[in-house]
Formats: sequence, structure tokens, C-alpha cells
Amino acid sequence: MTNSAQYGLPNNSGDARRDYPAFLDGRVRPMLIGGEWVPSLSGKSFESRNPANGELLATIAEGDSADIDRAVLAARKAFDGPWRTMKPDERQMILLRLADLVERHFDELSLLDTLDMGAPLRHTRGSKRHMVGLLRYFASMAVSLYGQTSSTSLGGELFACTLKEPVGVVGAIVPWNGPLMAAIWKTGPVLATGCTLVLKPAEDASLTPLRFGELLLEAGVPPGVVNIVPGFGATAGAALAAHTGVDKVSFTGSHLTGQQIVRASAGNLKRLSLELGGKSPNIVFADADLEVAASAAATAAFANAGQICSAGTRLFIQRPVFDEVVEAVARAARGLKVGAGLDEQTDIGPLVSRKQLDRVSGYLRAGREEGARALAGGERLDGDAHRNGFFVPPTVFTDIRDDMRIAQEEIFGPVVAAIPFDTLDEVVERANATPYGLGAGVWTRDVGRAHALAPRIRAGSVWVNCYNTMDPSMPFGGYKMSGYGRESGTQQLDDYLNVKALWIRRD
Ligand code: ADP
Repeated sequence: MTNSAQYGLPNNSGDARRDYPAFLDGRVRPMLIGGEWVPSLSGKSFESRNPANGELLATIAEGDSADIDRAVLAARKAFDGPWRTMKPDERQMILLRLADLVERHFDELSLLDTLDMGAPLRHTRGSKRHMVGLLRYFASMAVSLYGQTSSTSLGGELFACTLKEPVGVVGAIVPWNGPLMAAIWKTGPVLATGCTLVLKPAEDASLTPLRFGELLLEAGVPPGVVNIVPGFGATAGAALAAHTGVDKVSFTGSHLTGQQIVRASAGNLKRLSLELGGKSPNIVFADADLEVAASAAATAAFANAGQICSAGTRLFIQRPVFDEVVEAVARAARGLKVGAGLDEQTDIGPLVSRKQLDRVSGYLRAGREEGARALAGGERLDGDAHRNGFFVPPTVFTDIRDDMRIAQEEIFGPVVAAIPFDTLDEVVERANATPYGLGAGVWTRDVGRAHALAPRIRAGSVWVNCYNTMDPSMPFGGYKMSGYGRESGTQQLDDYLNVKALWIRRD
């Protein structure tokens, strides 16, 4: 039987769980420390529930600062052990085996993502090429790290070069909006560069990272090289961010938590990379292919129920085509099916948690109160089909002023603010007028205009006639309060490496 048949839709026989992965076997899921699956020292655990219907999926050992301590110790021991001298091509082989395992188990991993955080199966399964590709890319980078030689100004009696060395023990603190993606983005560069890792998954989505941990061991990752400690932000997360035995923290999440992590890192001045929020502009000029642009604008705003840091949430449309485009986006929004992620027909799943539901509902209310008008959506769905889950319909707001909260703050839900503009200079200024700078979209058939605009947008990615396109070789990250450091690309690897200057006198 193929995996997709094995992990197909729950049948209608009354036992919906029959097709769930064996991983959800009812036992308390332990944490991974020093190559062993162990309970938390406190004996505490927490629940993982399906946001589509509230069902209990699993109980998970809850790590706190004592567990983080022993995980950091294990990571340090591994960093100082045989891992340090393991040859790059051996690390490459581990990454290649891991890529094969992730490819083979992809249906199971994407089903776990869907069950745990709500994204439609179509969405989670659709990321296979990118996920596996990332691991193969990191495998190739394991044998492609090099420094430079310099002739220096001092002449021939000195040989001078730079060496790249792993930064050490890395702490990774990740969100729930792409659990497998987060695990891969944080583990890949660690294995490629020879660092070791303590990964703290999000409390709302720990299942896939834990299953991924089993695959790490199967791929031959030595004990202690990757440790996985689930738990809450205020306890496990804060302990990891402050730990003086950690050399670098790689964090993905909200900018408020990012600021706390910066403060917590001061004790040992650890290195940081921060991939934070966004309020990304998506700019449609009148000369664009409007049908394509409108359909892409809906995807940019609503994919993963808007729970993507680079979602295109401010849709700037040039005035002559404003009505046409905004109506097309609203039509697309009304046509999207909102429902449980397991349903193959679902376009938009539930939000991940009640906390997110309350947060997004608060913004819908704020939008209305500030005078915005909802052309589609606008209210939480709580009819029979949606009552037990955290469902919000794709929402298109118009009549926006730039100072409204829904035009300024990251909502992290399926909500887009559509805003007319007249000129290029004006849209550049307004697009840049938020504290964030993660991504931006530009839709035009005028290549000159695209070139003129791209350098003026203060964001880490600019997509012209496409949106949210990603590749393992291309850096992804923020300007301004969207953070610093990059995921993917050689730039990400550099974030995990120290540079040493080596001088040798020749005589
Ligand atoms: P959200 O509010 O959507 O959960 P966060 O940025 O708070 O987004 O969460 C992202 C990750 O940061 C999660 O793994 C969470 O547990 C962790 N986290 C939250 N607060 C802290 C903190 N004070 N220190 C370290 N990690 C934290």
C-alpha cells in the first residue's frame, strides 16, 4: 500500500482515527535528549489538539528550564565529541539519508502538520519538493564551505586566509505555522556546518518535529547533535534564549517575542538570527495581467489561513483598476472552501488555536469599528460545520486609511486590506510606511518599472509577477523589524559559521 493510501482521508466508518499515523498511539510523547527519548524531569505534560474540531491528538512531555539545561549539556558534549572531527562528506551523507527519509515519510509528516496546526492537506503535501530540496541543498553545502586567501597589504612573507568554523551549540525556537518547514530550516544548516542543536518546537505544533526527530536518529545523526525539547515559550523558550551554554539562537516568530529574545541573549552576547513578522505590500499596477494578479493576491493573503509571515496583507491597487481587481480578489475569497484540513476540498483550514482566533477576531472588529468595509468575510464562522474549530473566512477589507490597525499591524489571519494608489513614488512611500520589511509583491508588465521599484522597497524579498516564491538557494529574511539573518542560501550557512583569520609567517 502506498503512503498516500495508508494516510488518506479518515473514512466515514465512525473511526476517523483509523488512518492516523501510528505515531499518535496514545502514549505521552517524550523529548529527545542525547540520542534518547526521555520524559520531562518535572513529569509534566501538555495536550496537542486538532484545531479543526478540538479532538485530542497526543499528550507531550513538557520541557522546562531543567530539561533545557540537560539538552544544552548534551549538545555541548556532542559538539566537543567525535562530531567535531566527523568529515564533511559524512555529514553530507546523513543529510542525504534524512532527505530520503523525509521524502519517503512525507505523507505522514504532512498529515501530522495538518492535524496539529490545521493547514489543509493540499497545502502541507504541496511543499514536498521544497522540503526535500532544502535537505539536499544543505547536504551539498556540507561539502561546499570555504574561506578565502588574501594577498594582504603586507606582502609575501605572510600567508593569510580565513577559515569557516561552526559557531557551536545552537538553540532554535520556532513557531507553529509550518512545523516541518521550521524543523528542516533549523536542522539543515546545523548538520551542514557541524554545529549541534537544541530545538524548542512551538507548543501548538510539536508533533511533526518530534516525528522528524525519529527520522534524524534513523538517518544516523549522532547522539546529542540534535535535541528536541517541547514546552512553552515563557519557560522552555526563555530558558533556551538566556542559556549561557548556547552560542547562537535562531528564532522564528513574532517581533515582540523576538525583542524578548534579544534581551535574554545579552548574558553571553550570543549570536542571533531573527525571522519575525511582516505586513507585506503587494502592489498591482494597472498594466499588469489583472486576472493573474488578482488570483495570486488571494493566494498571497489567504494561503495557510494567512498564517505566513510574508503573507501579502496590504494589497495596493492602482486606482483605474481598483474596483475590478478588488472585486476579483473578493470573488476569489468567497469561492474558497473553509473547513477541516483533512478534507481534500478545503482551501482554508482553521486558525491554529483559540488564542489566534481571538486575536484575528479582534482585528476584524477593529477594522469594522475604524470604518473599513468587508467585501468578503469579516466575521468568524460558527455554523454547524465550523462550530468546534477556529474558523475565519478569507476577508477583504476596503475603505482603508493607512493609519488603521488592520493596515499597520500583523494580523496573522486570512485578512487583506485593499488600498488604492496613484503613482509609483506614492506607493513606494506607503508600502515602506510600516515597521516591517519582510516581503513585497509587484505586478506589472513594465520591466523598467519593476527594476525601478525593487531597490526602493525596504524588504528582504521582492517578488515581481510572482509571490512567496522560495528556493533553497535564495535567502529569505527581513529588513527593519522583520528581523535579521537569513533562512536558505549561502547567507543562512554563514549565520551558523564563525570566521577565523589565520596568519602564517613564511620565514
Ligand atoms: P505566537 O504568539 O504566535 O505563539 P511567538 O513568537 O510568541 O508567536 O512564538 C514563537 C515561538 O517562540 C514559540 O515556540 C514560543 O513558545 C516561543 N516563545 C514565546 N515566548 C517566548 C519567550 N519569552 N522566550 C523564548 N521563546 C518564546
